[in-house]
Amino acid sequence: MHKLAFYKLVTVFLFATVFLAACSDQGATVVSESDTVNIPVDESVIFITNAHIIDGAGNVFERGSLLIENGRISEVGNGIVEPLNALVIDAGGKTVMPGFIEGHRHIIRGNPDEWMANQSETNMQEFLDAGFTTVLSAIDAPQILELRRRINEGEIAGPRLLTGSFVPINSLPPGEPTTDPARTDVSRPPNRPTEPAGKIPDQVIIDAVNNIADQGFDFTKTVVTVTPNGPEVESLTLMVEETHKRGLKAIVHAVGKWDLLEVIKAKPDHLVHTPHIGQLTDEEVQTIVDAGIPMVSSLGTLGIFYDENNQPIFRDGYPYSWDTLPSVGQGPVNARLLWNAGITYGFGTDTTFNPRETLKHELKTLFLVFSEQDIIEIMTAHTAKAVFLEDEIGSLEPGKAADVVIIDGDPLDDLFDLLKVDLVIKGGHIVVNRM
Ligand SMILES: [Zn+2]
Repeated sequence: MHKLAFYKLVTVFLFATVFLAACSDQGATVVSESDTVNIPVDESVIFITNAHIIDGAGNVFERGSLLIENGRISEVGNGIVEPLNALVIDAGGKTVMPGFIEGHRHIIRGNPDEWMANQSETNMQEFLDAGFTTVLSAIDAPQILELRRRINEGEIAGPRLLTGSFVPINSLPPGEPTTDPARTDVSRPPNRPTEPAGKIPDQVIIDAVNNIADQGFDFTKTVVTVTPNGPEVESLTLMVEETHKRGLKAIVHAVGKWDLLEVIKAKPDHLVHTPHIGQLTDEEVQTIVDAGIPMVSSLGTLGIFYDENNQPIFRDGYPYSWDTLPSVGQGPVNARLLWNAGITYGFGTDTTFNPRETLKHELKTLFLVFSEQDIIEIMTAHTAKAVFLEDEIGSLEPGKAADVVIIDGDPLDDLFDLLKVDLVIKGGHIVVNRM
């Protein structure tokens, strides 16, 4: 890449000289003279040129340019004039895309204070290295707010963080805590509850929401397995209403189709996990899509991966449990049916480990039922909408935040080129540079 030089050599036509020559009485021909001068580079002006651009708004430009000024995208497309003072990045042979958005993660692992002291900086850089410029943390230790502050105030580099915290809406435990939360809950027959769960007192829910809002979180989140004649929909409705009173959004985890069809009655803002327990009928698909609530994928949760001995494992390394095998198909098929019916479908992994690895896992499972073009649409515009930042990120359009990745290859041609991130810009600043 163009070195981050403070000056660059620019050829300038000396129009003054031309003008004088033209006005002289001596009948001299007009000569265009030129000279080379040093122009100071303004690093808040970045001009990416010669690029294959996927703008996330439905356009693809060949040999296009992207102009960034003061942290924002100011122009994108063909025929854009390079400002003299711009830092120029030649993206020949590469693809320029919106920064990736992770719509569902859990970030802090182990002892939160130790993690903050020893791992947070490396982990945040790993997100940027993988191309993620925005990450939604849906339940983490409260230290996540301090992490967000450090990133926002420039103390460490990291993605934009959106944060959520847990509100209980019934007395059922959310699941076995040692493995993937989306995988080990009680939504799967024959484990489904046969008795109503206990009701959480309304005041407990109201206080929990207010406490979350007071601390500065962006989202409330709950996990729902509905129980026969249980309190779930009523309590969830209360949680959603209280959440909205405080200007936050409500996330609901529901992975069984029976759970999902109930929780949408409470009108939450955001659904996490594609339902992967139970195959949706066309009518059920339509009911879910008509609710108008965005959903985040996390299909990799139930994918089959293999260890070095070719043994089937879950993506987090646990041995594969064959009683979950139907979910490998039901999740992706439900996703495709919901997509066909027009749902807003965002990208999210629900993982706790390496961002690039989890991107690979999620792409593998999305690719079962979606094309490269669909997946890019999911990862850009749809995820931005699913996290309520569609006015700010998710596409390369004038006025939006300059969150940009440069990829060594073309993901429309080979999806897994998305793993080859060469350069990342967040808010107009270069945060990863391997060019
Ligand atoms: Zn989760």
